[in-house]
Amino acid sequence: MIIVMKAGAAKKDKDEVLRRIKELGYTSHVIRGTTRDVIGAIGDERGKAALQALETLHGVENVLPILQPYKLASLEVKKESSKVRISDAVSIGGSQIVIMAGPCAVESEEQIIESALAVKKSGAHMLRGGAFKPRTSPYSFQGLEEEGLKLMAKARELTGLPFVTEVINPETADMVADYADMLQIGARNSQNFALLKKVGQLGKPVLLKRGMAMTIQELLMSAEYIMSEGNQSVILCERGIRTFETATRNTLDLSAIPVLKGKTHLPIVIDPSHGTGNHHYVAPMSYAAVAAGADGLIIEVHPDPEHASSDGAQSLKPSKFEVMMQKLRLFAEADGRKL
Ligand code: PEP
Ligand code: MN
Repeated sequence: MIIVMKAGAAKKDKDEVLRRIKELGYTSHVIRGTTRDVIGAIGDERGKAALQALETLHGVENVLPILQPYKLASLEVKKESSKVRISDAVSIGGSQIVIMAGPCAVESEEQIIESALAVKKSGAHMLRGGAFKPRTSPYSFQGLEEEGLKLMAKARELTGLPFVTEVINPETADMVADYADMLQIGARNSQNFALLKKVGQLGKPVLLKRGMAMTIQELLMSAEYIMSEGNQSVILCERGIRTFETATRNTLDLSAIPVLKGKTHLPIVIDPSHGTGNHHYVAPMSYAAVAAGADGLIIEVHPDPEHASSDGAQSLKPSKFEVMMQKLRLFAEADGRKL
């Protein structure tokens, strides 16, 4: 249920609502709006009538059922788009389209520093790079692990770019969170509920990728796992789904942007690199994503894609990334936004 407070309701009225929700055995989540706050009461259906009665409390406008199975992620609970703060300079979900760029995996100090300097020069706002790599084959490069996180931190120190990196299990999540500015949940782990709950308890924003066989509703339910643990800083990422088509690595579902915008207040980022698997298709899909309303892009850029330890075929050379960014700026401006 959602308890909608009156505009300007007093703190003591809100505290009383929170106390009553707790007394009824529900968990409460306060969602602050610009004019009024709403309080989500999450729990099973049995106490619905008792919650409905909170409508009589002072400062309460009304009490409404949440119809969707996802609650905190739903537009029913929060009508304004969420802006997720990553650092002093970077927030995702506002009028700035946030570009995260860098290699698939951190391979060496030289490689990550060169990548970071290049993407920064072209106007990227964040650095990406995997230190823990969830590879399809156990014989493929698995990442530099903590050493990779240290190198990402070094690149951040040098460029000022906050970074996003993948977390692949609950055991190493605290360690990754100690270094990273944003935690990435990869496509292969997006229904790993133990991991989702764990990142819901860490105080870092989460970039949640859509699984390769996941419906939009399932993606939102995974976001709900994170949010119901207390972490509201979730950003959704469409990275392509499995279809019968083999001409591209995945089928990038750009219609997910308007569909999600009609269901959730959470920001939406597009990954055209994994979405297509081919560097030739990255720029056109990036322009299309901006036109469709994406809040950001995550793009693989490598100084030497031919020798990359993973995903070289879909990685842009820095020179190509630079050209793409210039054109992307025009698309952003045409849409009344900026890069
Ligand atoms: C990645 O971003 O490098 C990655 C492994 O992505 P995904 O989980 O979407 O395959
Ligand atoms: Mn990759």
